[in-house]
Amino acid sequence: METPKLTHVVLVSSPGLGHLIPAVELAKRFVLLYNFKVTVIAVTSQTSRAETQILDSVLTPSLCHLIDIPSPDITAFVAQNDAVVTRLCVVMREARPAIRSVLSEITPRPSAVIVDLFSTETIPIARELNILGYVFIASHAWMLALLLYSPVLDELVEGQYVDQTEPIKIPGCKPVRPEDVLDPMLDRNDRQYTEYLKLANGVLQSDGVLVNTWEELQREELEVLREGGALSEALNMKIPIYAVGPLVREPLLETNSSTELLVRWLDQQPSKSVVYVSFGSGGTVSSEQMKELAWGLELSEQRFVWVVRPPTEGVADAAFFTTGSSGIDEVGKYLPEGFVSRTSEVGLLVLEWAQQVTILGHRSIGGFLSHCGWGSTLESVTNGVPLIAWPLYAEQRMNAALVAEGLGLAVRPRVLPTKKVVRREEIAEMVREVIEGVEGVKGNRVRERVKELQKSAMKAVSKCGSSYVALSQLANRIAG
Ligand code: UDP
Repeated sequence: METPKLTHVVLVSSPGLGHLIPAVELAKRFVLLYNFKVTVIAVTSQTSRAETQILDSVLTPSLCHLIDIPSPDITAFVAQNDAVVTRLCVVMREARPAIRSVLSEITPRPSAVIVDLFSTETIPIARELNILGYVFIASHAWMLALLLYSPVLDELVEGQYVDQTEPIKIPGCKPVRPEDVLDPMLDRNDRQYTEYLKLANGVLQSDGVLVNTWEELQREELEVLREGGALSEALNMKIPIYAVGPLVREPLLETNSSTELLVRWLDQQPSKSVVYVSFGSGGTVSSEQMKELAWGLELSEQRFVWVVRPPTEGVADAAFFTTGSSGIDEVGKYLPEGFVSRTSEVGLLVLEWAQQVTILGHRSIGGFLSHCGWGSTLESVTNGVPLIAWPLYAEQRMNAALVAEGLGLAVRPRVLPTKKVVRREEIAEMVREVIEGVEGVKGNRVRERVKELQKSAMKAVSKCGSSYVALSQLANRIAG
C-alpha cells in the first residue's frame, strides 16, 4: 500500500517573543489539526530565558522540528542608534544564506514556507526553490491595510505623516490618526521607514497572507483587502487573505517556582479583583512615569500584579533585545519610597518577565493594563479580561485605537503615554473602571464587550468556525 504523502511546512520567525510565540502557535495547529510535518526556523536573539522556554515548549512534547539560527552579527551594517525595525530587517537579510541552505537541503522537500513580516525577503528564495511562500501577520487586518497601502501613501502624502492635519485615508478602511501611525512611519527620513516600505512590497510578492484576526472581528477590513475590495483594487492585489486567529497560547503546564508562588497568591484573591500590568516583551517607561504608575496603582486601592523593568528615558522599546537582567533592588530604586511595603498585602511585583497566559487565565484577574501588543491584546480578549490601553511602540497606537474606540474593549488615558506622562489620578480612575464591583463605579460596557468578543473568538477557532475553515482551506492548498 502506498504511504500517504507527508506535507512539510516551514515557518520562519524573526527575533522577538511577539514574533516567535505566534509562529510557534501556528506551527502547532498545522501539526495537531492536519498532521503536517512542521519545521520552525527561529532566528533568535539568544539573550532571553523566555525565548528558550518558548522554544522548549515546541520540543516537549516533540511537536515540531526546530532549527535555531543565532542572530547574525550586524554591527557592520547598522548604526548604534538604529531602530528595532531596521535591526530586525537587517538581521533577517543577513540570515538569508542560512535560511536558504535549510530550505534547499531539508527533507522532505517543503510544500510551503510561512514567514513573519520581517522575513519577507525569504519569499523570493522560496519562489526560486519552487516552494509556496506565505506571510503570517501576527497583527490585525487594519494594520495590514495600512502597511500595504504605505507605498502609495509615500507617493501621495507630502511631509511627515505625524504633521498631517487630517487623518490618513486608506481606501475602504477607517482612517488612521496621524499620531497613531506605526513607529517606522514616524520619521520618513529614518532608515526604518525605507525598510518598512520594502516589507510592504515584500508581502505583495507572496502567495497569500495569514492574519491573526477573525472574520467576525474585522469583517470590513478583511473585505477591503480581498478581491473586489477597495484597497485590493487600488493596489491591484490578487493574493488571498486568510484570517486564522486568534492564535494564542494555552496556559503553560510547566511552571517555575516563581510562577507557582504567583499563582498561589492569585488563588487567594477574590474573583476578578486583580489588575495585571505589563508592557510586553520590550516595553519600558520613563522613571517619572514609573513613579506615577506606582502611585496610581496605590491610589486605586485595587490589587495588582506588575511586571516591572528598570525605566528608560525617551525609548519605549528598550527591552526588545535584552529582556531579563535586572534585580529587584535595582528596580526598587525607581519606585516611590515605601511603595513596596505599603502595597505588600495587595500587590505583587514580578521582575522583567511573567508567564502572562497563566496570569490572564486566572479567575482573579479583572483587568489588564497593557502596551496593547497584538499578542497580549488577543490573550486578554480570549480570557475575557478588559484592557487599559497604554500603547508604547510598533503598531500599538493603532491597536489601542482599535480596541478602545473601534471595539470598545478598553479604556485609555486621555494623553498618549509616549507623548505625556499619565498622571496617578487618571491611572487610579482607569483601574477602578475596569475592575468589577468597585464601589461607586457603574458596571462598565467594556467588560460586557470583552465577554461578547471572547465568545466570538472561541467560535471562530472552533470546528467549522471562520478561522478554522480558513486555516483548513490554506492547509488544503498547501497539501495540494
Ligand atoms: N509575554 C509574557 N510575559 C511577559 C511579557 C510578554 O509571556 O512578561 C508574552 C505575551 O504573553 C505575548 C508576547 O510575550 O504572547 C508579547 O507579544 P505582544 O504581541 O503582546 O507584544 P510585543 O512584546 O511583541 O510588543
